[in-house]
Amino acid sequence: MKIYGLIGYPVRHSYSSAMHNAAFQALGVDARYELFEIKPEQLEQEFNRLLTQGICGFNVTIPYKEKVIKLLGQLDEQAALIGAVNTIQVNQDKSTIGFNTDGPGFITHLKQVVGFNTEGKGVAILGAGGAAKAVALELARNKVKAISLFDLDQDKTQALADKIEENFPACALSLGASANDLLKIHPDLLINATPLGMHKDDPLVFDPGLLERNLVVYDLVYNPAQTPLLRAAKSKGCSGVFNGLGMLLYQGVLAFKIWLDVEPPVEVMQNALTQMLT
Ligand code: NAP
Repeated sequence: MKIYGLIGYPVRHSYSSAMHNAAFQALGVDARYELFEIKPEQLEQEFNRLLTQGICGFNVTIPYKEKVIKLLGQLDEQAALIGAVNTIQVNQDKSTIGFNTDGPGFITHLKQVVGFNTEGKGVAILGAGGAAKAVALELARNKVKAISLFDLDQDKTQALADKIEENFPACALSLGASANDLLKIHPDLLINATPLGMHKDDPLVFDPGLLERNLVVYDLVYNPAQTPLLRAAKSKGCSGVFNGLGMLLYQGVLAFKIWLDVEPPVEVMQNALTQMLT
């Protein structure tokens, strides 16, 4: 039996095993996806142990998406640009290649399922951490016209803006001084890439009066399925309102494709995720 899995700390709340195990079963693949919780001081040792034991591929989550890079043989172009890895392919000779399917997973869902054509659009992103970086660079690659960023940490915001500017000079950038500033430029798409909304008492950091009807609102948070931002967007009649489940699904679909080189059973994977969340 082939073994795949997720490394991170903590990992026990992850839905990835349900999604990938359902896909293995649906395709009759003799494989299992396991969760490997690894303490920070043991990352290198445990990573090498899993390779020696014959693991075929990994996902990587917090806090190792950046730290794992130094343990890898190769990085694909997107992972190198983002500076973070969420998927690792292990070859038969145990050499490793790191990928990042977070940005492409988001874009696949946005374009193919939401039906949002990115070309020439204006995007506002709250947050400049790992997920924001993956999503923003992928949006710039997909020819959005302008990106506006705001994070509480100005150094992170500036570093992400510099990276986009350097690699995608046709994309105009602006840095907001507050969350509301992001909406004052009348974007087509608003993305929450902060953890705000994960906890019951998290505040809505946007003035709901600024949420326009033609705005598509995409919250990367998927648990809970309804966040204060998504509730406000719905009540204001925004033209599209989406949580992060689609991104979670498609980053997994793309990882599965990298590992097995077969067409993943998307519907099966989606049903497995939906069941976990209900
Ligand atoms: P991260 O690296 O910690 O980045 C979050 C960023 O948001 C940090 O820079 C943080 O700043 C900033 N922030 C927090 N509160 C803010 C506020 N009120 N205004 C502006 N900025 C604020 O986390 P991440 O890995 O990018 O994850 C972000 C969210 O995306 C999480 O909810 C995660 O679950 C979700 N996510 C979803 C998927 C998916 O597949 N759907 C994939 C990846 C991530 P400080 O550091 O200064 O606090």
